[in-house]
Amino acid sequence: MKVLAIALQKDNKLTSASFEMIQAARSISEDISTAILAENADSIASELASRGGGQVLAVSDESLKFFNEEIHAKVLTELIKKHTPNVILCPASLYGKALLCRLAALNGGAMASEATGLEKDGEKLKVTRPHYGGSVVSTVENRGESPFFVSIRAKIFPESKDGSGEVINETIDSAAFEAVSKVIESKVEAAGELSLTEADRIVSAGRGMKGKEHIPMVEELAKSLGAALGASRAIVDAGWISYSHQVGQTGKTVNPKLYIAVGISGAIQHLVGMRTSQTIVAINKDKDAPIFSVANYGIVGDAFEIVPALTAKFNKELGS
Ligand SMILES: Cc1cc2nc3c(=O)[nH]c(=O)nc-3n(C[C@H](O)[C@H](O)[C@H](O)COP(=O)(O)OP(=O)(O)OC[C@H]3O[C@@H](n4cnc5c(N)ncnc54)[C@H](O)[C@@H]3O)c2cc1C
Repeated sequence: MKVLAIALQKDNKLTSASFEMIQAARSISEDISTAILAENADSIASELASRGGGQVLAVSDESLKFFNEEIHAKVLTELIKKHTPNVILCPASLYGKALLCRLAALNGGAMASEATGLEKDGEKLKVTRPHYGGSVVSTVENRGESPFFVSIRAKIFPESKDGSGEVINETIDSAAFEAVSKVIESKVEAAGELSLTEADRIVSAGRGMKGKEHIPMVEELAKSLGAALGASRAIVDAGWISYSHQVGQTGKTVNPKLYIAVGISGAIQHLVGMRTSQTIVAINKDKDAPIFSVANYGIVGDAFEIVPALTAKFNKELGS
């Protein structure tokens, strides 16, 4: 089975999910390659090779300075035609998801999105993916001979740390770099120092915090744990915090090792974005709040007492 991992970069820095894709590819095959597209892919291609990316297919062009899924999909299609992988893996990030569906369509392939598990079965690949916020989990496989396009959720696979690889600088037909749209600027709305989707720990605030003036209390708890700050949609809509923090169906899908929900009821639209977190802690004064149905640890009580107490304890114990 030939597997192509798609690495993604921003400002010429590789996302951590790129190394997770290499690890995912290595878990199912020894015949792996990694594609990287950038304005100047030289240094990041070498980094991918040194971390076990196998054949690193590097494409450099000034049109790749900003992410443009139309150009990325056309360039990757050229690579797929040339190297004929059976399986293509891509991070299930905002960019990755936009890219992979185009890529599957352009190549007439089958697609499975938001995978949480991969299993090799002979020459076939079985992909596990959750539906309805994780209430149903299905296992799917590609029945045809066409390439199988799979996007993988963050934090399912560890990042590959080392290994071998060689960089191949690819030359692509210039037509692939033309698109009907052109990205002229890209701005990132900061969700704090840590990216929500890459964070190992997240502390999220909900409407139980009563008002914008109390969000710093949850922020302090997040800081004491070195965690990113998340939010329910209710407090984003109320203007207490920016949209970049929102977790859930219409926000970000996260998969950290630790997720602490503070004053969040646990509506299904929130749960779909966080219920696959490894350990979930819920703080809520209502013992019947739905969030407790997915929580590994529940604290029933007033967040205004519990949050400062936890922050003080973590600051003392963890010395942050
Ligand atoms: C199409 C659609 C998409 C949506 N997408 C999203 C999404 O992406 N993300 C999302 O989060 N929501 C989303 N929602 C909204 C979702 O349905 C809920 O309305 C929202 O998640 C509720 O946010 P909340 O839990 O903060 O507020 P509430 O439901 O009001 O819950 C507040 C909780 O705080 C608790 N509480 C109150 N005071 C305290 C206290 N002192 N101490 C401790 N606990 C306390 C209460 O018991 C309650 O459980 C979506 C809805 C729709 C229709």
